[in-house]
Amino acid sequence: MGLIVVSNREPYAPQRGEGGELRWTPSIGGLTAALDPALQRAGGTWIAWGEARPEITQVDLPQGDPRYRLKRVRLGEAEVREYYHGFSNRALWPVSHYFIERTSYQAAQWRTYVEVNRRFAQAAVESDQGGDAIWVHDYQLALVPRMVRDALPNARIGFFWHIPWPSSEVFRTLPWDRELLDGVLGADLIGMHTPDYVRHFLSACRHVLGAETEGDTVRWQGRVSRVVDRPIGIEVEALETLAASPEVEEAADRIRRTLQTQILLGVDRLDYTKGIPERLEAFGAFLDRHPEARGRVTLLQIAVPSREQVESYRQLRTRVEGLVGRINGRHTRDGWSPIQYIYRGMGRDELVAHYRAADVMVVTPLRDGLNLVAKEFLACSRDGVLILSRFAGAADELPEAVQVNPYSPEGLAEAFLQALNMPLDEKKARLQRLRGRLHGSDLKAWTDGFVRELAGA
Ligand code: UDP
Repeated sequence: MGLIVVSNREPYAPQRGEGGELRWTPSIGGLTAALDPALQRAGGTWIAWGEARPEITQVDLPQGDPRYRLKRVRLGEAEVREYYHGFSNRALWPVSHYFIERTSYQAAQWRTYVEVNRRFAQAAVESDQGGDAIWVHDYQLALVPRMVRDALPNARIGFFWHIPWPSSEVFRTLPWDRELLDGVLGADLIGMHTPDYVRHFLSACRHVLGAETEGDTVRWQGRVSRVVDRPIGIEVEALETLAASPEVEEAADRIRRTLQTQILLGVDRLDYTKGIPERLEAFGAFLDRHPEARGRVTLLQIAVPSREQVESYRQLRTRVEGLVGRINGRHTRDGWSPIQYIYRGMGRDELVAHYRAADVMVVTPLRDGLNLVAKEFLACSRDGVLILSRFAGAADELPEAVQVNPYSPEGLAEAFLQALNMPLDEKKARLQRLRGRLHGSDLKAWTDGFVRELAGA
């Protein structure tokens, strides 16, 4: 059985090397980095949007040691604007993260979303060699399972929704709620990160579609789909090894020597779901109330540029940078500034060095499908503490983290205090328990497990 992966982003992007040759370099972070090893093992086809150099319609990857074929869907500028920046990121993203007031529901964008989903579905259908498993990913492509099903009634189709599935009361504000659900229900196996997301999805199937559900199954259009919680894992061992390497240790030491204080670390795409302004405000208030912490602790905030085409993301950047300036302006003394702010994405080694250097990892999204950063930190840290929002999907799996309500400045300040002053033996005990949980369900177990379940579906 071959595997066909369908996602919006591609696993490698073409870049010009120094000699002018084309180099396919791995895309940074997230979903594509997770799936690449799985498809390398299984072999097959990956279908994704060919963003740079769209004239290249297919390529065998990884370059030099090809294991699978990437087929690239070509999208026009207006299509990208309406399908991706528009419907995906201004309708589905905010509504799924409970930000109803940030949604913009536009019929033209919806139509383009349908049209682009059709193109991805068509590419999957054309790649199917009979008996392949087709694994579709995420909110940009929620209609693809139904579209493939219509063309290939007997196909094995899996779908993974990587962001939160909101309460059905919130989901119902989407004018195309029925179409979305029907699209997803084209799949045999539907995966989400937490039991709550599954419960919300099943509830939407009943209330919006009037479909019958029983246990983890939905009966719809004469077929049965299973909906399961399967939180994604990380490459635990590879990260542990990298974090303990001499190069990374040295880089981590350099970071510590430069700052000369305890380090609170934030690592987020600059997205309004991540709770960055709330975190900064809480840290400012913490310094106001705890003069003894001044000069002794630094918040190192890495903000990865994201969706800069969308106005609200540009506004967020202005707000965050204003807050950094205001708090640093108030507290900077004797060569110490409370917040170090970095506005760029980092490669793996540099990021891992930051995880290794941190005393406390501050992961405080207002809402997050899972949050890989939290898990990666645990794999890399020597004796650090994880502060984790109860609204991150990963909170379900990580009970020994210091869990917080990111909307409460007092709660956050208390968590900072607790984490910064935690006795070493307690830190080590918590970290050991948490890391044990990661080993039980790493990335390979997640991908192989899902593909196996799909094959048996
Ligand atoms: N990441 C990265 N470089 C950075 C910051 C983050 O490669 O400078 C990666 C990080 O390792 C993680 C991913 O980006 O794998 C972020 O995933 P997460 O689930 O935390 O959040 P998302 O951005 O998907 O909402």
